[in-house]
Amino acid sequence: MRPGKFIFFFLTTLFLIAGINARPVKPVVLLVSLDGFRWDYPDRGLTPNLAEMEQNGVRALSLQPCFPTKTFPNHLSMITGLYPEHHGIILNTILNPFTNSRYSYGNSNISPVAQWYQGETIWETLKRQGIKSAVYFWPGSDIDVSYRAPDISIPYKHETPYEERIQTVLGWLEKPETERPQFITLYLHETDESGHEFGPESAQTDSAVALLDRMIGILRNGLRRLKLQNIVNLIIVSDHGLIATPAENRIDLEKILSGKQFVAQKSNPIMFIYPKDNDVYRVLKKNARHYKVYRRGYFPEYYHFNHNALIAPIVLIAEPGYLFSSEGNESPVRATHGYDNHLLNMHGIFIAEGPRFNKGLQTGTLQSVDVYPLLCKLLGVEPAGNIDGRLDRIEFILTTPVGNSE
Ligand SMILES: [Zn+2]
Repeated sequence: MRPGKFIFFFLTTLFLIAGINARPVKPVVLLVSLDGFRWDYPDRGLTPNLAEMEQNGVRALSLQPCFPTKTFPNHLSMITGLYPEHHGIILNTILNPFTNSRYSYGNSNISPVAQWYQGETIWETLKRQGIKSAVYFWPGSDIDVSYRAPDISIPYKHETPYEERIQTVLGWLEKPETERPQFITLYLHETDESGHEFGPESAQTDSAVALLDRMIGILRNGLRRLKLQNIVNLIIVSDHGLIATPAENRIDLEKILSGKQFVAQKSNPIMFIYPKDNDVYRVLKKNARHYKVYRRGYFPEYYHFNHNALIAPIVLIAEPGYLFSSEGNESPVRATHGYDNHLLNMHGIFIAEGPRFNKGLQTGTLQSVDVYPLLCKLLGVEPAGNIDGRLDRIEFILTTPVGNSE
């Protein structure tokens, strides 16, 4: 081969290899939920891994959940971009008085589950557009209709050790690019449990905060080991915050409504009332101390809690720090959530890092309904129509893509 020809051949080969390498790698989003991780827990000096993420990425002052500030309604809002009144999961357990059926996540006796989930989830959006999802625990992933379900879904098992959950997620990420799911979730519950039992200011809750941060550390180390830190967009969120409920702050509803006919469904600090007597509402209104009372359809607009047929005819919300008292052997709680979502202590966290996030950006409060359009943007898919979430409220946390690197 003549030297000129050889150089030509060599350069062509080099360009070809460079061309293959320049092909953009498919983006991956890893969404991690830390149950009940209040907005201010990262400021306790117990979370070096979250602090590193904050420096390297984006931290919002807080993530504002939807009302009611409960686990299932908000996990669904984050992955549908809909308020609970629109996606249907209005509480953790729901009664349908028309069919006398009941919803609760993880309860396999309830069938079919799909009837309760009225919104399009992110994995459904992705599936329609040819992108794989793998879900390690998330309400809604138990849906029993295959075209609405994630490609991989682990059935809920509370006792599964956190390290095992993380290793499974890293195993999914380790797959070759053609098989690797592009959307992955992980859920860790520790902070919610200790928060309820011991209160937000307790040593036990501090330990839970530190434990979850160590788990984030294991996850991030795994991403580094797999050399994926420039491919995976890691988002840490939580569903709600927590406030203390001192034992003396109890509302005795039986006493207030004594002699009246009604059915109550309690999801403290919220109470659904199905009245059988005409004057139940009047009596509740007259005695409204430490709680607010609303008729269905008359919630203030900012709660976005009107347009759903399964909201009870009368709904009570306790004043922050108060609970409706319980008879029987319900375990006592030192703290809870479910209150007005405008209270900062009901807010969760939003911390993210990865190739598409700005570095070292601190921002104000973000909203959980805006997480879904953000996920769609990161993965380059068209969101479902008529969502409540808005990309324009959250898009500024992303870097501006150069060329077609999306
Ligand atoms: Zn909880």
